[in-house]
Amino acid sequence: MNELRKDYLLDRWVIIASERAKRPTDFVVKKEEYPVGACYFCPGNENTTPPEIGRIEKDGRWTVRWFPNKYPATTEKNKSASKGLLASASAYGRHEIIVETPLHNQDFEELPLGDMQEVLEVCANRIKQLNQNKGIKYVLVFKNRGREAGASLAHSHFQVIALSKIPSLVEKEVQASRKYWKKTKRCILCDTLKKELKSERKVYKDKNTGVFAPYASRFPFEAWVMPKRHVKNLDELKPEEKKSFTLAVKKTLLSLDKMLNKPPYNFYFHVSPKKGDLHMHLEICPKLSIQAGFEFGSDMYINVVPPEDAARHYKTGI
Ligand SMILES: [Zn+2]
Ligand SMILES: [Zn+2]
Ligand SMILES: [Zn+2]
Repeated sequence: MNELRKDYLLDRWVIIASERAKRPTDFVVKKEEYPVGACYFCPGNENTTPPEIGRIEKDGRWTVRWFPNKYPATTEKNKSASKGLLASASAYGRHEIIVETPLHNQDFEELPLGDMQEVLEVCANRIKQLNQNKGIKYVLVFKNRGREAGASLAHSHFQVIALSKIPSLVEKEVQASRKYWKKTKRCILCDTLKKELKSERKVYKDKNTGVFAPYASRFPFEAWVMPKRHVKNLDELKPEEKKSFTLAVKKTLLSLDKMLNKPPYNFYFHVSPKKGDLHMHLEICPKLSIQAGFEFGSDMYINVVPPEDAARHYKTGI
């Protein structure tokens, strides 16, 4: 029987369509290719990107570099805001790119563990630095892989968007956490993680990190990675926690790659806003289904892979 499930935090509902449940092989399709040609992010073409903000070098060559997005969604230009029916404000903020490998065909999860960790440190530092700006309320770090998932360029990269407003989704998660805390004096995501790591939705765990397919997964093979200790942001992770977190991300993504032949995906960090307390987590959303009329019209989702199945498949590849 199909089941309606609610997200841990949000009033967001998903129909888990186990009656037409699909297997990983049902999703392996031919991916859209990128046009062949010069790549803005490859070594030698550094002058085609806006001036660099920073880089990591090894043996005289860069391994990671970050710079403003050439076509930013948010900028530091300011105009006065207006309220009411046609509320507006300047799309104030910063929009940056982090290119995490000089190799055109290397994916994030294929980097050596130490290099992946360095990239996450760059992400943590960008969040920290951009948050120092008074006009910035939130910094969202995310990655799109594959054309179907919205990556306009083939060369692997992260995006960082600093916003003058806390995104509603994050705000709702913060509020739900607060409400639960008031009632129980506990963190809703600490409790969720403990519970899910004992469930059939568990994907992977070690001493410091847990991975699971969320109970109300919106998407086939959705997975969340979470530090076990209650930390609000990436830069609060201790060295051994950082290593463990990175390893969990690597294992999960490599298992996904193996299972579905490197599918398109999106992932994003949900860290705490400057004010507010949210247990940091990474949400991995493979892009295998199309959101259409039902999803847009209802803000609900239909997922044809029960998370219990997703977790089982993930585990075979870890
Ligand atoms: Zn390239
Ligand atoms: Zn917590
Ligand atoms: Zn979240």
